[in-house]
Amino acid sequence: MTTGTPEDGPFAEERSALDEAAAVVESAELTAEAEQEMAVLDQRRRILFVHAHPDDETINNGVTMAMYAAANAHVTLLTCTLGEEGEVLVPELEHLAADRDDALGQHRVGELAAAMEALGVTDSRFLGGPGRFRDSGMMGLPTNDRPDCFWQADLEQAAGLVAEVVREARPQVVVTYDENGGYGHPDHIQAHRAAMRGVELAEDEGFTDAGAREPWSVSKVYWCANPESRMREGLRALRAAGDSTSFEGLDPEGPLPYTVPDERVTAVIDGTGHVAAKLSAMRAHATQITVDGPFFALSNNLGDQVWALEHYTLVRGSAGETDPETGWETDLFSGLGV
Ligand SMILES: [Zn+2]
Repeated sequence: MTTGTPEDGPFAEERSALDEAAAVVESAELTAEAEQEMAVLDQRRRILFVHAHPDDETINNGVTMAMYAAANAHVTLLTCTLGEEGEVLVPELEHLAADRDDALGQHRVGELAAAMEALGVTDSRFLGGPGRFRDSGMMGLPTNDRPDCFWQADLEQAAGLVAEVVREARPQVVVTYDENGGYGHPDHIQAHRAAMRGVELAEDEGFTDAGAREPWSVSKVYWCANPESRMREGLRALRAAGDSTSFEGLDPEGPLPYTVPDERVTAVIDGTGHVAAKLSAMRAHATQITVDGPFFALSNNLGDQVWALEHYTLVRGSAGETDPETGWETDLFSGLGV
């Protein structure tokens, strides 16, 4: 009777060929793309923000992004345009504007990269690649009619590109704007539509444009929400301090755009420890947000803490644990068990 070793068994040759093949596979270098994908899936919590222009992410979600990135969640930012039509607030850079050199988009790619560094976010992408969709400009302007602008984009196509990112990054949570895009800018409205439809397509087995990637079902979707009471409070403080030019034309007691009724808020992120990162990201968007502009005027009058709280409305999935005092969730992943 012989006990034998695997090497001299009946399938010794086949076994050693298999071992060799396995060693080759193990030692093969992963492609950069595959490596990045594995790194993404290694992180338990994954969140995707869909925005229209560079700077929207920082203004709306700066502390939320910084907080989750610091907590080792995978934070993905998807920006739909380069913001080519933005106003240039830095005099020396005015030549970049769309009606002069038309070079603002490329400049804002750099501003966004610096802002992401400030927030600790490493996965920042442009929908369909940088420059695929152009900034449409404010509602009603002739730039809305340019065939290459985001407002004119085919919605299914744009949503399909969002779905590809969703299937790759597999976020449990997606954040975007409400149906009015927060304040009616055509690119914000379109970003909202593309994100909402993209989430549907990502989980639809019939959607095969995204190659071989598996369908992915997003558990929760939130819309950014700026509660009315907070904006009134901020404006009252500004006006009381004698500032009548910041947010010019807005009366703290009158109707307020950019806001939602407080009842629509369902979640708040308290990013007190990340206000400095948000302010530094705001400064990185130098052509768009100036230190003597309305956003900084708000914090000059109310203190930096005005930036610590970011509010949301849950529109897909169910709320997890809530703060008994406010009835709001305080973690966008709550109830998901991750
Ligand atoms: Zn915007």
